[in-house]
Amino acid sequence: MRYEGNIFRPPSEAYSLIVQVTIGCAHNDCTFCSMFKDKQFRVRAVSEVLEDLEDARESYANVGRIFLADGDSLVLNNDKLKVILNKINELFPECERVSMYGAPLDVLNKTHEELVELKDLGVGIIYIGAESGSDKVLEDVKKGATRAQIIEAIQMIEAAGIQASVTFINGLAGPDYEDHALETASMINESKPSFVGLLTLMIEPMAPLYDEVRSGRFQLLEPLGVVEETLLMLEHIDLPEDSKTVFRSNHASNYISLRGDLPKDQQRMIAQLRSVLGREDMLKDERLRAL
Ligand code: SF4
Repeated sequence: MRYEGNIFRPPSEAYSLIVQVTIGCAHNDCTFCSMFKDKQFRVRAVSEVLEDLEDARESYANVGRIFLADGDSLVLNNDKLKVILNKINELFPECERVSMYGAPLDVLNKTHEELVELKDLGVGIIYIGAESGSDKVLEDVKKGATRAQIIEAIQMIEAAGIQASVTFINGLAGPDYEDHALETASMINESKPSFVGLLTLMIEPMAPLYDEVRSGRFQLLEPLGVVEETLLMLEHIDLPEDSKTVFRSNHASNYISLRGDLPKDQQRMIAQLRSVLGREDMLKDERLRAL
């Protein structure tokens, strides 16, 4: 297997075979993100990807899941993705799920039929970074997609029978969090993804926002403010009783760990948040947080 640069994958892909289909991120402009700032984006030659898959087959007896890296493998057209997915099906008949990151506009560039084609070839989950439901926040952080586009992208993924795993970032609006919290809740209500994951903002030196923080132009939300923001968000999520969205706020960056299904476990998680309001001693130590 050949890997170029640092490799990133969602926490739930910890045991997956990771194969780079692209190098870096085609957008690479989000101000809070440092993941691929050192990489010049390119799509790898499909022949190289197929060689890596052959190598992996030689090395690993049992591959249950495969994650196609880097930043947004869904940027590939379906002709290329089909070649890769067919090879995966040929070499790894035991593989239960293929997954990848998908930028909202890459999803919108596919037709429903193309997404169904990917699902039929084994794509089970697409990770999509929404970050916020607020158009103002999305514009401020240069997400490159609007709220309406992100909602449509999530709905398209789910309509194709693929699970959408959608990430939002606590603290992304700074101390003035109300719009971020409420609009994020309403985005979840409208789009009804299979999975919602909350991270909490951490800024690394390679991220453009780092200089904004250092200069004081962007103020970070205090830990207890993050709890209040999460609570406001959860209180305004309103999903049908018979629906199920897996909700996780248990990433290493989070101050408090929440995990449950919405709406079934919503009141339990709300109670958990209320119990730590004003209690910074109950939150994760800053030194233990990580991206
Ligand atoms: S957050 Fe995602 S889309 Fe934005 S620059 Fe980072 S990898 Fe690319």
